[in-house]
Amino acid sequence: MSETIEFQAEARQLLQLMIHSIYSDKDVFLRELISNASDALDKLRLESYRDKDLEVDTADLHIELVPDAGARTLTVRDNGIGMTRDEVVDLIGTIAKSGTAEMLAQLREAQDEKAEDLIGQFGIGFYSSFMVADRVEMVTRKAGAAEGVHWESTGEGTYTLETVADAPQGTAITLHLKPEDAEDSLHDYAQPETVRRIVKRYSDFITWPIRLLTGEEDADTEPVNSRKALWARPASEVTDEELTEFYRHVSHDWQEPLETLRLSGEGTFEYQGLLFLPAHAPMDLFMREARRGVQLYVKRVFVMDDCEALVPEYLRFVKGVVDAADLSLNVSREILQQDRQIQAIRKRLVRKVLQTITALQGDEPEKYRTFWSELGRAFKEGLITDPDNREAILTASSFASTHSPDEETTLRVYKERMPEGQDAIYYLTGSTRASIENSPHIEAFRAKGYEVLLLTDQVDEVWTDTVTEYDGTPLASIAKGDVDLGADDEKPEGFEGLLTWMGTELADDVKEVRLSSRLTTSPACLVGDPGDLSPMLEKMYRAMGQ
Ligand code: ADP
Ligand code: MG
Repeated sequence: MSETIEFQAEARQLLQLMIHSIYSDKDVFLRELISNASDALDKLRLESYRDKDLEVDTADLHIELVPDAGARTLTVRDNGIGMTRDEVVDLIGTIAKSGTAEMLAQLREAQDEKAEDLIGQFGIGFYSSFMVADRVEMVTRKAGAAEGVHWESTGEGTYTLETVADAPQGTAITLHLKPEDAEDSLHDYAQPETVRRIVKRYSDFITWPIRLLTGEEDADTEPVNSRKALWARPASEVTDEELTEFYRHVSHDWQEPLETLRLSGEGTFEYQGLLFLPAHAPMDLFMREARRGVQLYVKRVFVMDDCEALVPEYLRFVKGVVDAADLSLNVSREILQQDRQIQAIRKRLVRKVLQTITALQGDEPEKYRTFWSELGRAFKEGLITDPDNREAILTASSFASTHSPDEETTLRVYKERMPEGQDAIYYLTGSTRASIENSPHIEAFRAKGYEVLLLTDQVDEVWTDTVTEYDGTPLASIAKGDVDLGADDEKPEGFEGLLTWMGTELADDVKEVRLSSRLTTSPACLVGDPGDLSPMLEKMYRAMGQ
C-alpha cells in the first residue's frame, strides 16, 4: 500500500530551485549522492563495531553506479546503513539543517548569480538529484531491519512511500534523467564515460570502492576511484582540485576552502590531520546547534563527525579530518574529552590554526581580510574562553580604529604607531562606528593624536571585560575611570560650588560629578567606573533576563 506525503514547506521551495536548476554545474549531483553513500558506509562499519549483534554483512562495503542508456536512468547504490521509514520522512522529506529559513529569505531577494552563490554556501545535498532527474526513486533498508521502503517523487510538492519486503540492505537511488541532457554527450548521465569523468573529478579520494557497471552482467564492473586517503599522502602529491573536493565532502560546503592546513605527529601519539578554513561563515555559525566541523578517524576508519573534543568552540568553523593511530574505534565522546592523546592533538590543532591565521595576516592580506570579515566575530570568542592562547588570538585579530576609516589594524601595528607618552591601547565599544566616533569620550584622544580602537561587535563588550593587556601594554576603555592623558590636565580652580550643586541635583542618576580632561568641545559626558558593565553589555544582560 502506498501513501502520499507532502514535503515540508522549506523543502518544497528548495526542490523548486533544483527543478528549475539555478545551479550551473549540474554534475555536482553525483558528488552529493556519492558523498551520502560514503557516509552511509562509514556509519554501517562503525555501527557493526559497536553493536556485535547487528546482523549485517560488512564483507564487501562499496558504492555501485549503474548507468542505463536504454532506460535513461542512473542508479547510485550503496550497501551502507540504510534508512527506516521514519528516517526517510525526517531526512529526505524535511530539511533539518539550521540556517535554512535565513537562506530562503535571502534567496527571495537575490538575483540569479547571487542565488547560485547562496545555494553554494548552503549545499543542497540529496535534492540536487532534481537538477538532472524529473523523477527519483529510492529503495532503502536499514541495517538489521526486516523490511525496506520505496520512496518516489518528481520533486513537485509530494512523495510516495511504500513498504518493500525484499529490499537489499542499504540504499539505491535511481534517477530518471531529464530528456534534454541526452543531447549533450558530455552531460549524458546515462553514459559510463560521463559517470567515470565526474567520479574522477569529484570523488576520487572517497575511501570506499566506487564501481561502475559497464555491461549487462553484474561482473562487468570497473573500479573508478583511486581511494587514497588524502591526509595520508605527501602534500606534494595532492592537487588543489583534490583538496577542494575533499573539503566539499567533509564540509558539505560547495565552495572552495580559503586555506588548507596539515598536521602531523609522530612518536608517542601518531596522528595526521587535514584541515581547512572556509571562505565564508557557515550558515549556523551563531546558532545554538552550530556544529564543529572536524571528523575523527582512527587508522583511516571514520569514527565520528563533529568531534568537539578536538576543537574548541571558537574554532567551530574549522573543517577537516584528524586521523589518530592509537585510539579504540569504540571511543565515546565522553571518554575522548579525557583522552591525553586527543588533548595533545587539540592543543596542536589550535596552535596551528592560530599560526596559520597570523601568517595570512602578513603574507596574504586579501585572504586574511576575507577570513576576518567572515569569521572574526566567532574567533574573538576565544579571547574569553581560551586564556592560554589569549596573546596569540589577539595577535591574529584586527580591529577598526580611528587611524583609518576603512582599514582595520592589528594590535602590533597599533603599538608601533603609539606616540611618545601614550602608555595604553585605548578602545571604545558601542553599537556602530558612527555612534562611537561621535562620542564625546573620544575628543581629547583625537586632539592628542592617540589612536582609539572602535569595537562594535557584541563579543567585544565581553572580552574587553577580561582582557587587560596585550604584549605588556595595558588595554584601557576610554569610557571608564579617570583616564590619565598626561601633564597638561592641570585642574582649573573655582568649580567646587558648581560640582557640589550638580552632584546634589543629579544624585539619583550619577555617583559623582567631576572635572575632566578628556573633553575638548563637548561640555559633559558620562563615564563608568573601571569595574562597571558597559552600557551595551548592561543592555545585553538585561535582554537575557539577568
Ligand atoms: P547532508 O548529507 O548534508 O546531511 P543530504 O541532503 O545530502 O544532506 O542528505 C540528507 C540525509 O539523508 C543525510 O544526512 C542522511 O542521513 C540521509 N541519507 C541520504 N542519503 C543516504 C544514503 N545513501 N544512505 C543513508 N542515509 C542517507
Ligand atoms: Mg549529503
